[in-house]
Amino acid sequence: MGLKNKTKKINRTTDVYGNCTSEKVIASLDLLEETWGNEKKPIYESFEDPIDGLIKTVLSQNTNDANRDNAWQSLKHRFPSWDKVMSAEVGEVATAIRSAGIANVKAQRIKTILTKINNSLGECSLKKLRDWHKEDIKEFLGSLPGVGPKTVACVLLFDIGIPAFPVDTHVARISKRLGFIEEKTSPIEIERFLENVVPEERFLGGHLNMIAHGRAICKAVKPKCTTCPLANLCELTKSRGDSS
Ligand code: SF4
Repeated sequence: MGLKNKTKKINRTTDVYGNCTSEKVIASLDLLEETWGNEKKPIYESFEDPIDGLIKTVLSQNTNDANRDNAWQSLKHRFPSWDKVMSAEVGEVATAIRSAGIANVKAQRIKTILTKINNSLGECSLKKLRDWHKEDIKEFLGSLPGVGPKTVACVLLFDIGIPAFPVDTHVARISKRLGFIEEKTSPIEIERFLENVVPEERFLGGHLNMIAHGRAICKAVKPKCTTCPLANLCELTKSRGDSS
């Protein structure tokens, strides 16, 4: 593994991707920023060790932020180190993270992840990854059980400080409705598309703005199109022939 290279060539052209131009993507991000303002907010404070971000993201799978946070606090209170979690009984870990749901599955997954990290890196820590190339980090994290592309991108972006554009359900839904990409496009393809079109410095705020918009306005069921600032850019609205 060599030294990482955080700089990436950004495509700032007006290339056409399917039926969408990069200008439309940027214009949409601009409107989202005017609405939610996450790009202006202070830089997210990373965990000292990216392993904390990884395990917290595993806890967040299939639950809401409040339940995840309760499970996280309980886990950190019960176990003073990740080595202790790794060597604990599954039931003990499951009890500590009960509020996050599917506790037995997540407990086993966390223990397996910690064991694999410990075996590969010689410690229950991911600090060493901060000196790796992005593609090496993606390959390593993606090889861990239950760790998919969204979790990998979250750890890269929030905990290692390498630009990535995580694609969760909100980012995917909004990208499809606005017509950035086709309906059948996979999350990993959406991630590649956004990372190619969006300037790196806008990844974090843009990701957070899309989540905020998906939760409050562009909901999965009954999106609030009449009050949406992106209605004029939206393919779903156009296909309906109105703004309702
Ligand atoms: S107009 Fe409606 S479907 Fe389109 S982005 Fe806004 S809320 Fe979503």
